[in-house]
Amino acid sequence: MAADLRDFIRNRIRRDLDEGTLEHGVVTRFPPEPNGHLHIGHAKSICLNFGVAEEFGGKTYLRFDDTNPSKESHEFVESIQKDVNWLGFDWGENLTFASDYFDQLFAFAKQLIVDGKAFVCSQSADEMRQSRGTLTEPGTDSPFRDRTVAENVELFERMRAGAFDDGDHVLRARIDMASPNINLRDPVLYRIMHKHHHRTGDRWCIYPMYDFTHCICDALEGISHSLCTLEFEDHRPLYDWVSDNINIDFHPPQIEFSRLGLEYNVMSKRALARLVGEGKVDGWSDPRLPTLAGLRRRGVPAGAIREFCQRIGVTKQENLVEVELLEFCIRQELEGRAPRAMAVLEPLRVLVTNFVGEDEVLNAPWHPQYPEMGTRELLFGRELFIERSDFSDDPPKKFKRLSPGAMIRLRYAYIIRCDEVERNESGDIQAIRATYFPDSRSGNDSSGLKPKGVIHYVAASNALRVEVRSFGHLFRTPDPKDMAQDFNADSVTSTDGVVERAIVETPDPHVQFERTGYFYRESSGNGSLDGHGVEDALVFNQTVSLRDSWKPGP
Ligand code: ATP
Ligand code: MG
Repeated sequence: MAADLRDFIRNRIRRDLDEGTLEHGVVTRFPPEPNGHLHIGHAKSICLNFGVAEEFGGKTYLRFDDTNPSKESHEFVESIQKDVNWLGFDWGENLTFASDYFDQLFAFAKQLIVDGKAFVCSQSADEMRQSRGTLTEPGTDSPFRDRTVAENVELFERMRAGAFDDGDHVLRARIDMASPNINLRDPVLYRIMHKHHHRTGDRWCIYPMYDFTHCICDALEGISHSLCTLEFEDHRPLYDWVSDNINIDFHPPQIEFSRLGLEYNVMSKRALARLVGEGKVDGWSDPRLPTLAGLRRRGVPAGAIREFCQRIGVTKQENLVEVELLEFCIRQELEGRAPRAMAVLEPLRVLVTNFVGEDEVLNAPWHPQYPEMGTRELLFGRELFIERSDFSDDPPKKFKRLSPGAMIRLRYAYIIRCDEVERNESGDIQAIRATYFPDSRSGNDSSGLKPKGVIHYVAASNALRVEVRSFGHLFRTPDPKDMAQDFNADSVTSTDGVVERAIVETPDPHVQFERTGYFYRESSGNGSLDGHGVEDALVFNQTVSLRDSWKPGP
């Protein structure tokens, strides 16, 4: 199958191109409302819109759908641009705002009035709701439906001029109150809203509704395929009605695909805004959130998100994607790129009793399979840290780590043997006394010894203090229904550990802590072991564990 025929949308575009029906080639748009930060669901739409335009030699608009000033802000406009860029897409000069078209939209609306296809309605919001009907019953006509054109024009002009209060009137399309599709029951096109707009300031006090605005912006920009999510399927007849009834000779097709849902997450901006607003998370960039800002802070590379979007594909099937697929893509992306280092997250002190003198400087590659990534210096000496879980004084059978009398290799260094366990009065293990074998150096081992396994370590003289944050699911259930009840309040764990000093030298904040997982350096304190202030701690966020039970299907 050709690369460009991956899904029904690419098929459709290919066919349109072959049939020569596209006047301006392939033109798509990504139309976010600047009322929150983008999430990975938006990434699906971004990858699709920008992706098909790239593949078919077209272009993509980044168009802000800024028709509701009560929720929108410049801050969100900026963060959205940053996120789209970060994902790896470039709109070039094609940056637009629905508000750029307010004058044209107003003119189109007035023309609808003149054509007898729109009227000013003075029902209250309640009355309008009550007369709308239900799925099984038709609605009833508004008593204002038969106002004359002259009266409608005058009222609409006065609405614009600020003569009325919010809610006094709306402009409605005059379609059919008995339509089986509720969206066609004389939908509202304009409402009065005395609100300052982040771009047009106080120039307007009436704002167009999404359904009216969107199709007109699409037509004005010559969009060849207006791709949106399935919840707009029922709105398509209205999209088509507006397109057919305004004086513009271009009518883009609206094509719907399913939204991305991710297990153990919520995906709507409204739900995310609520978590942020209630202080349940650390802002929009909390590493547990499915926002692009959160994923970035967690250390998820943009390439992994693009790969994920490619793998989930584009269909009309509503689905909830497993988190494991995203994790798989992250590991795949980081595997060959993240340098590897050793961090001990729950340190147990080891005293190497037969080591004398200055600590020895060893060399280790940043990545065992990619020598081109270079090497780092590593120390070995009298005082070391190993992972508490790598020692047991009551080892189960086949324990491949350290126990009394047993030998183990320290990664890139020497073989040691545990001679003695130091305990405090209550019997807790405080430290281990060990012997090392000078002729067992990694890469130059003539000892003939057979250690039980290999574990990681950090020499005390080489250790920086780190705070490592690990994350669980934000919700306890794969498909959370009740945000408050399903919220997992224990989804962050913080551990104090040590990491080898060389890690602060890497320009790439991504790292694999050997045997533990992928991490992302969030801050670069000096990591001094003496310091106790937060500014001293190096903070690493866990991106993903190493465990990979999930394998993609054939
Ligand atoms: P939300 O419910 O998160 O606020 P939205 O659809 O209201 O989403 P918009 O800013 O209007 O947010 O979305 C911009 C574009 O992103 C739209 O075309 C929308 O269809 C698409 N989009 C939003 N959420 C998803 C998702 N989960 N999966 C795929 N596309 C999405
Ligand atoms: Mg929306």
